Amino acid sequence: MRPETTSIAARVREIVSAAGIDNFHIENDILVMCGVRYVVERCGCDDPQCNGIRLQREEDRGGGNFFALQ
Ligand SMILES: [Zn+2]
Repeated sequence: MRPETTSIAARVREIVSAAGIDNFHIENDILVMCGVRYVVERCGCDDPQCNGIRLQREEDRGGGNFFALQ
């Protein structure tokens, strides 16, 4: 059973920490990493490599410039 009740913030914290990055913080659904703000959304794709999270630089909002945090 997938942990759907886990918040996005908790999931992102886990992924970013696992990547060895400790210079970040999370404000609601915004990840602030190295001074850049990223909007965090759940990813609904069916890529088995996908971790279920995708990020978009806040300044690019509306530009469709999503990328996956792997
Ligand atoms: Zn995905």
